[in-house]
Amino acid sequence: MARLPKVDRVADRLDPACPHVLRVRAARAAIDAARMRSAEIPEDEIVADAARRLQELARPSLRTVLNLSGTILHTGLGRAPLSERAAEAAAVAGRDYSNLEFDLETGRRGDRQAHVRELLCEITGAEDALVVNNAAAAVTLALAAIAGGGAVAISRGQLVEIGGGFRMPEIFAQSGCRLLEVGTTNRTRPGDFLAVNDPALAALLRCHPSNYRVVGFTAEVGASEMADLAAERGVPYLDDQGNGALVDLRLFGVVGVETLPDVARFADLAMASGDKLLGGPQAGLLVGRRAVVDLVRRHPLARAFRIDKMSLAALEITLRQTRDGRVHEIPTLRDIAKPLPEVLADARRLARAIGGTVESGTTELGAGCAPGTGVPTWRVGIHRSDPDASLAALRKLDPPIIGRIERGQIWLDPRTVTPTQLRTALRALKEGEW
Ligand SMILES: *Cc1c(COP(=O)(O)O)cnc(C)c1O
Repeated sequence: MARLPKVDRVADRLDPACPHVLRVRAARAAIDAARMRSAEIPEDEIVADAARRLQELARPSLRTVLNLSGTILHTGLGRAPLSERAAEAAAVAGRDYSNLEFDLETGRRGDRQAHVRELLCEITGAEDALVVNNAAAAVTLALAAIAGGGAVAISRGQLVEIGGGFRMPEIFAQSGCRLLEVGTTNRTRPGDFLAVNDPALAALLRCHPSNYRVVGFTAEVGASEMADLAAERGVPYLDDQGNGALVDLRLFGVVGVETLPDVARFADLAMASGDKLLGGPQAGLLVGRRAVVDLVRRHPLARAFRIDKMSLAALEITLRQTRDGRVHEIPTLRDIAKPLPEVLADARRLARAIGGTVESGTTELGAGCAPGTGVPTWRVGIHRSDPDASLAALRKLDPPIIGRIERGQIWLDPRTVTPTQLRTALRALKEGEW
């Protein structure tokens, strides 16, 4: 039986800046590991192992990674990164007292929605606006408030699962509405909505197919027609726009994305996500006619789905940047707009440093924004005998680097890194083993 050092003795040799409880835990784990090996292990080696374990234990679980995955809005990687100013606003709102729900004029209770309502109305052209915790909450709340106890008509082609278990039929059930499927999977026409014969009809809903595409012999009803149909049926038209694009993406060469303002022109209420193409924090946006938004605002679930102050602060700044035409400051839009020659230069720097070939490809918008839509890119392809193992090793670098495998190769797409992040990636790739 090998002689092993005492736990306290190893713990005392570890970084004194780390909490004692973690040093003891790391020391014990390293000694236990040494005990499992039959050979005599020098104390220095056990201390070195304990130091590595301590590093792991002391590191927060949620941390920065470098996204070279080829997907801009990657749900696994936290979707939209905030702009510097939005991140700063979130940090300040978290740290300080604020006038979150306090009217500085009167000294009385204020409304947290006041910080973003006007901005949303100005940008989308809607009469009124409300924000909640996320778009899933926005849809659930809107259905409950407007059509709870009634029936809602939706095209069969739009009964979607967004991901993470957010399935339209289940949302209907949770909101207390009955689902009326109209049309067929591939074709729904205006007449299908007119043919609904149900006295409980309380709303028409359009939901954007954010993560799939129906191709071939297809037909769906557009926003302007939906508005006419809803008026004819005497019920509100709700639209789950989803991706939250506020600016015309054709500016950046992306076609076919209907924006929230496009939809808000016609819908009585339109809903969207804050951390997709808006490029802001997790949030659910609801914009529409005053009377409809008011119904939603007064529903008890609105309190349960309330947005938190840090997200609200980041959202206000992101909306200001959008309104003020400073979209190049918003990382999501900046990444979409990044000129190809810049991406090519970055890809070449990567390839010079680590090897591999530079090839053209596509960066996906991701997060179910606009399926099959992306922007052209340049990326580095790397051959490895075991690409899965190498990809896993990239995830163990400091900071972790997230790539993807396609056609049996590893691909690193630099469209989604800043110059500073690229330098960090180059250092991590050179220093680490993968
Ligand atoms: C993304 C999306 C949602 C859910 O948005 P979250 O902000 O993630 O809750 C709902 N509907 C559509 C159409 C979407 O694209």
